[in-house]
Amino acid sequence: MRKATVTIKPAALTHNLMQVKKRTPHAKVLAMVKANAYGHGIKAVLPALKQADGIGVASFTEALEARNLGWNKTLGLIEGVFNASEWQQAIDYDCSCVIHHTPQLDWALANVPDATSPARTVWLKYNTGMNRLGFDDESVIQAAKLLYDAGYQLVLTTHFANADDRNHPLNTVQIQRFSSMLEYLREHVSSDIKGSLCNSAAIINFPEHAYDWVRPGIMLYGSSPVNHKRADELNLRSAMDFSAQIMALQTIKAGDAVGYGSRWTALQDTKVALVSIGYGDGYPRVVSDEAYVSVVDSRDEQNYHCPIRGRVAMDMLVIDLSGVPEDIALDSEVMLWGTTPHVDEVATHAGTIGYELLCRLSARPLRVLA
Ligand SMILES: *Cc1c(COP(=O)(O)O)cnc(C)c1O
Repeated sequence: MRKATVTIKPAALTHNLMQVKKRTPHAKVLAMVKANAYGHGIKAVLPALKQADGIGVASFTEALEARNLGWNKTLGLIEGVFNASEWQQAIDYDCSCVIHHTPQLDWALANVPDATSPARTVWLKYNTGMNRLGFDDESVIQAAKLLYDAGYQLVLTTHFANADDRNHPLNTVQIQRFSSMLEYLREHVSSDIKGSLCNSAAIINFPEHAYDWVRPGIMLYGSSPVNHKRADELNLRSAMDFSAQIMALQTIKAGDAVGYGSRWTALQDTKVALVSIGYGDGYPRVVSDEAYVSVVDSRDEQNYHCPIRGRVAMDMLVIDLSGVPEDIALDSEVMLWGTTPHVDEVATHAGTIGYELLCRLSARPLRVLA
């Protein structure tokens, strides 16, 4: 059987959640599980994240899935709802919505949920410099007053544009704007207004600004959110192993080229393996010549780094076995990403970030829990 496999590791997820709690012990945690839990599968991750205070999703469909899976705590819709009838659905399913522009404000004011409803808490989005979603200085004050007077509880929220780069000058600007606005609203609207500022990168770089809720995403899955430290240096564990098997062994003669475009030519006779995985499974086609995989020798669990040779195809790729024992087994496991290489390394070789590789996995690989 073709064995392209995505293995989700619940223990790693829980470990990473604990790292969040350790860094920001006084904040509640809204664990971000949007985009099918960054490609890990919402069903696979929810049990491991049960100690989070809430989860965050980007669409009502994802919210529904989480409720159907039994999630009964805070469920945040981070882009809010897209029309008035979805606002009613959000109330029906006890979602706490972001309100980032006037139409959402109008829907909320026209249809106020019961005092006991979780939808009575809304996350008011303030634009502090990302310049995508959110109200500006004047309109956020206005919106806060209207919502508070209508009976809503408020969490003032904003999102960093450059939290991965701790020295970026916009970070201080965003922190400053957010803290003065929160102070102003607490003084002029209600002392009870909560705050939420930090994504993963900010939990690492600015934990002193955790406020009431932190919103970790990528670090829960074991990738590094910052550009100055690797995941292992942050004590984060990769929550996914992406693996396949050797499907054939070949020797390429000196001077012969391999695969589409004949991109790689053997300089000497070279032993290679065909691996049953490709971009049809979600492994990026665009990787550079630095990309490598790990071949695992099942006899002693030894790991061998093997470079990829030639173009990644839809269903297979070719790796160089030069450094691997001569008698390596045909069905040996090949690790595309996991502990080594880390998905962040593969992302670097593909000119992207771990987030994208994780989210772009296709439906084809087998999915299992460790
Ligand atoms: C996705 C998202 C997060 C999580 O970001 P990470 O970088 O993955 O930690 C936090 N807040 C908002 C509003 C988001 O959209």
